[in-house]
Amino acid sequence: MKTTIKKWGINGEGIAYIKGKPVFIDGAIPGELVEFSVAEEKEKYEIGKLENVIQPSNLRHSRPCQVQECQGCSLMHVNYKGQCKMKEAILKQTLAKYAGYTKKIAPIIKNERVLGYRNSCKLPVKMVDQVIRIGMYQNRSNQFVPLPRCIVHQKNLEIVRQEIESLMNQFHLKEYDSKTKTGIRTLVLKEFEEKVQVIFVTGDMDLEESFIQEVSQLKPVGSIWQSIKTDSSIDIFGKTMRHLAKDKDMKIHLHQYTLNLLPRSFYQLNTRQAVVLYDYVQSLVRPCRFIVEAYSGIGAMSLMVSSKAKRVLGIEVIEDAVINANQNARNNHLEHVSFVCDDAANAFLKIRDKVECLIVDPPRSGLDSSMRQAILKKKPSQLIYISCNPSTLAKNLKELKQVYHIVSVQPFDMFSQTQHVETVCLLEKKK
Ligand code: SAH
Repeated sequence: MKTTIKKWGINGEGIAYIKGKPVFIDGAIPGELVEFSVAEEKEKYEIGKLENVIQPSNLRHSRPCQVQECQGCSLMHVNYKGQCKMKEAILKQTLAKYAGYTKKIAPIIKNERVLGYRNSCKLPVKMVDQVIRIGMYQNRSNQFVPLPRCIVHQKNLEIVRQEIESLMNQFHLKEYDSKTKTGIRTLVLKEFEEKVQVIFVTGDMDLEESFIQEVSQLKPVGSIWQSIKTDSSIDIFGKTMRHLAKDKDMKIHLHQYTLNLLPRSFYQLNTRQAVVLYDYVQSLVRPCRFIVEAYSGIGAMSLMVSSKAKRVLGIEVIEDAVINANQNARNNHLEHVSFVCDDAANAFLKIRDKVECLIVDPPRSGLDSSMRQAILKKKPSQLIYISCNPSTLAKNLKELKQVYHIVSVQPFDMFSQTQHVETVCLLEKKK
């Protein structure tokens, strides 16, 4: 069947309409005339498979990466100008649809490095034809595909990943077996300042001394951990974390500040662009007495805005991240900055003092209902919402608009080649 693609879908696909019914076609770009076949037919929509591009868009270019099976980068076939257009369009559509916001959205702040920017990965490990492979699960499925290389990963991360794959085979390591509860489940890698932290998520087993020795001899490797996980919870790590070799923490320098990062702590995936984002947030904050940052991770943003207030309190639910964050405040001599380990809404409601500025940076699911209620109850005069998911941002804004008006919306490209868009939204309490 032939059709013209009408608009972008939130996952980077092109959307066409056949007799009013939307068809989602991966790899197609708005404006293109394409040929497709129907892969899945549902009541309200269809999934199309792109067969041929008859009239290509001028936003199409030849893919810089030939690995397609991993499905990790939905916009690899779109040039960078097109990727930015897609992200701006999605944000605009979503804010209009769910939040009724049709005013200005600032042009997206571009990523300086559109390849080789990603500082971490969490990848499943499986046996394929008797060979151990590090790979990915395809979207919305449990189909494992080995990853021969990834050009979005930072350089050392990718070198270490490939070296570890070959060492795992040399040492005859096996994939995780849920019966014996042994074997390798996941490989987690993080690269900061050219050093790589390696975390083997395994069953209940010891890793051979000589294997660890070999891994620690890989030049960029700066820290090695093992996490024992025998349950099937969604948490990537198990309860037991063993430090095996080299440093415990990773170090990140952010302007004049030094930050420590333990394996369980979260940090932004694009190190360079994170600084651009933090600087921007810092520029929005009005000098005041008391700033609260909810979902604070290792406290990077709190440190960055610390000169704007007499007191800064961060709230974060992961204990190791809070340990890092408090250490980070102390090591950088910021006595007025501290962090508590708690659920965001819970801790925020307990605060007695007047909070003038609240910064929130929640996970993709957005603010949960108790946090939304807490904000509407306490009404800090300035609210800065950092979001990695336009849909939940827009739905949350709809509710927050009872008390706030939207002052500015600034998208950032943190994850080039993918459909993801990060947004910083500044809200002010209505008079
Ligand atoms: N602002 C930080 C981290 C943002 S990621 C940075 O820039 O690095 C979101 C963080 O929210 C994660 O660290 C996650 O552990 C934390 N989190 C998730 N749910 C939470 C909750 N209910 N309460 C507090 N923190 C939560």
